[in-house]
Amino acid sequence: MKVLLGVDDSKFSEAAIEAVTRLMRPEQTEVCVLHVVEPLLLIPYYYMGQVASLETAQEKRLAEGKELVSRAAQRLTQAGYHVQTDVKEGDPRAMILDYAEAWSPDLIVVGSHGRKGLDRFLIGSVAESVARHAACSVLVVRLR
Ligand code: AMP
Repeated sequence: MKVLLGVDDSKFSEAAIEAVTRLMRPEQTEVCVLHVVEPLLLIPYYYMGQVASLETAQEKRLAEGKELVSRAAQRLTQAGYHVQTDVKEGDPRAMILDYAEAWSPDLIVVGSHGRKGLDRFLIGSVAESVARHAACSVLVVRLR
């Protein structure tokens, strides 16, 4: 089974990683750990003098994203899963869906909420959009 696991650096995403290890058999599961870095807004003129520092900031976020996926991958590899990782730039909602269309997972796993934490909504916007629009099944993992 191919599983696309969307991670950010939240406790909900941790719970999603844990759900994979709890529910899926390593020998039958191939996991792709994906993190999407949102682009920084580049407004011409206003940011003219700051483009270099914005680029540096984005590079830093991409590097942090790579760390994040490789930490998750390490845990999953140690648990016996076949794992690959990817870091993309874009809107996480659209990018996870596009990625799924290209990679064709059997299941997408995400946490119920993200870095912004629990709010008045039952699930966060990435989780909702993926659950609503993905062509495959989606597991939305809640914290217990
Ligand atoms: P949210 O809908 O933003 O509250 O996040 C819900 C879940 O979607 C998180 O627990 C992650 O599993 C996943 N997720 C959120 N943001 C990203 C991102 N930038 N890249 C990959 N997965 C994400």
